[in-house]
Amino acid sequence: MYDSAKRLEMPPFPVDRFIDAVHQVVAANADWVPPYGSGATLYIRPYMFASSPVIGVKPADEYQFRIFVTPVGPYFKGGAKPIVVKISDFDRAAPRGTGHIKAGLNYAMSLHAIVTAHAEGFAENIYLDPATRTKIEETGGANIIFVDKDGNLIVPKSDSILPSITRRSIVYVAEKYLGLKVTEREVLLSEVPDFKECGLCGTAAVISPVGKINDHGKEIAFSSGMEKMGPVIQKLYDTLTGIQMGSIEAPAGWIHKVE
Ligand SMILES: *Cc1c(COP(=O)(O)O)cnc(C)c1O
Repeated sequence: MYDSAKRLEMPPFPVDRFIDAVHQVVAANADWVPPYGSGATLYIRPYMFASSPVIGVKPADEYQFRIFVTPVGPYFKGGAKPIVVKISDFDRAAPRGTGHIKAGLNYAMSLHAIVTAHAEGFAENIYLDPATRTKIEETGGANIIFVDKDGNLIVPKSDSILPSITRRSIVYVAEKYLGLKVTEREVLLSEVPDFKECGLCGTAAVISPVGKINDHGKEIAFSSGMEKMGPVIQKLYDTLTGIQMGSIEAPAGWIHKVE
């Protein structure tokens, strides 16, 4: 959020005050924190917008930083079923554009593409790099991870994808908890059929398993199938959610106790 504010010429909200604000909002809404073990969570959404009158294209003089929280039910009701996603003909973010920050404009442009994908029966869009349309970027709201045939984690790298905290946590868990080899590099669409597992990662779902990718009618089916998560992605999911729930010891600094 700090980086996004700077890129948008908004004053970044100071990090220490941000942490304090999250603590205060969660403490004030303690009654809304769902019971432990229910699978439901308290979703925390910080946001910032300009609130002074401006006509013309220039930064505003006044901004509001707010945090809202809401209880949300378990993301996967009845287990995480693999989804089918499509390769989109739309572009998400230009090289050297704003794809690497969390800005409203990135989601406004994705709505037509997602409504279209849903109407065609797909759960999400995978966007390619607009310059060459050969490399995997990410979906509208989640980064993508792959597992190769040797069980290594392959993570697409690009300057125009959102640096998802979930993806970065998964990379840490893969290396430090599960001893997996992780490679962050450019990933060509043409090599995706060689991978065994695929998942989409973001705060809400943690990891959504992908069973198939539809590339203009050509299906890429992962060997993990359409019934359950692949074994490596399942381990990553179980470890990261175990850390979140407190059943697995967390790395230093990952857990904040709200009194
Ligand atoms: C929010 C978002 C993600 C996921 O980021 P997290 O920090 O893991 O929630 C990935 N891609 C895009 C485009 C996003 O907006």
